[in-house]
Amino acid sequence: MQYYSLNKQSPVVGFKEATIRGQAPDKGLYFPERIPAVDRDLIDDIEKYSNEEIAFRVIQPYVGDAIPANELLRIVAETINFDIPLVPVTDAIYSLELFHGPTLAFKDVGARFMSRCLGHFVQEDPARPGNGKVIVLVATSGDTGGAVANGFYNVDGVEVVILYPSGKVSSVQEKQLTTLGNNIHALEIDGSFDDCQDMVKKAFADSDLQQRLFLTSANSINVARWLPQQFYYFLAWKQWKEKQQPPVICVPSGNFGNICAGMLAHLSGLPVQHFVAACNANNTVPEFLSTGHYQPKKAVATLSNAMDVGHPSNFVRILELFHQQLGDLKKVLASYSVTDEQTKDTLREVYNNYKYLTDPHGAVGYYALQQWLKAHPGQKGIFLETAHPVKFYDVVEPVINEKVPVPAAVEQIMDLPKQSTRMNAEYEQLKQYLLK
Ligand SMILES: *Cc1c(COP(=O)(O)O)cnc(C)c1O
Repeated sequence: MQYYSLNKQSPVVGFKEATIRGQAPDKGLYFPERIPAVDRDLIDDIEKYSNEEIAFRVIQPYVGDAIPANELLRIVAETINFDIPLVPVTDAIYSLELFHGPTLAFKDVGARFMSRCLGHFVQEDPARPGNGKVIVLVATSGDTGGAVANGFYNVDGVEVVILYPSGKVSSVQEKQLTTLGNNIHALEIDGSFDDCQDMVKKAFADSDLQQRLFLTSANSINVARWLPQQFYYFLAWKQWKEKQQPPVICVPSGNFGNICAGMLAHLSGLPVQHFVAACNANNTVPEFLSTGHYQPKKAVATLSNAMDVGHPSNFVRILELFHQQLGDLKKVLASYSVTDEQTKDTLREVYNNYKYLTDPHGAVGYYALQQWLKAHPGQKGIFLETAHPVKFYDVVEPVINEKVPVPAAVEQIMDLPKQSTRMNAEYEQLKQYLLK
């Protein structure tokens, strides 16, 4: 498979180069030259396949000969070595629980796949700038950092530098990205997530830095993080009982990488009734769908902070999937903006009525799905429960007036000391840090 840059000013590259670079030299996102169709029997008889086989068959055309089949099979097996259950909440609403991985959020899937691919490529040819060391540079609004840190922890030849907005991630999230140490370095930035993302973008655009260091990104723009997110849409289909009536799929969305992977899976043959992008107060995409006007904004802080994104970086990929035709896109995608009040009410009501506890992001998804289903009676749907409620216990506990039980994995890290470097939101400071 070849990948082109969405800015169309850089040469096409294979999977390996696209993974290593993260972003094309013209700063565009990489995009596959064609969308492979999955075999019909993988859809019709999906229950017959193991999760690993499904994942392997979905990703193999994208990887091509960049990774040998047996190695790729190992990588996908390690990527999804935890449960991804589809749990009924009501007659019409199911939760796809994506929080059973090591950092309790869906980003574990992309981060584990990417770290293992990169590890494979670094071993293959260590002769690059930076004395054979890769620096993975990433900005996080919360969950990326922990997933990336965990995915890359102790991977030989890789140093990870994570920028996060000070005071704007939950205490569990902060612990997950600041307590590992070793090859994992956390930078606490006095600014917003968009500031962090800007600093990272500047580093990738800095040719002086590029010549001295071997930098790559692990943000959701990286194809090796974006593409494996298709896996769990297929795993949801495997567990979906009413095959004659495909589900509506509702995805709590920030940078729109997750939902974009779902739409890619759909264009490859996965049956989906409709997609719903659930947003918090950061409503750039819902506004675009209703007005036809794309107006990026400054991010505003909400209770679902991993979706506090005013300029979603993956949205250009969604437009490309539909050849920039808004009309075609709207046949497949709807989007709602959900307030913090509605988020809290939903969390409380779903817990009280159905004894199902969502996290704030899942609650945004639940609310948006419910809106869609109200307008389309008879349909049934799935919302993606993107994180474990305990990651946001500071929001969840006052709403339900109860303690959220703490999984053992979290309990362990809460007592470990935070290791981070505080920094202003200034690119020069980041550059100096990277060079030393
Ligand atoms: C990152 C994240 C999202 C948003 O996913 P995108 O791919 O950026 O749209 C939603 N929920 C949680 C818990 C997240 O960590």
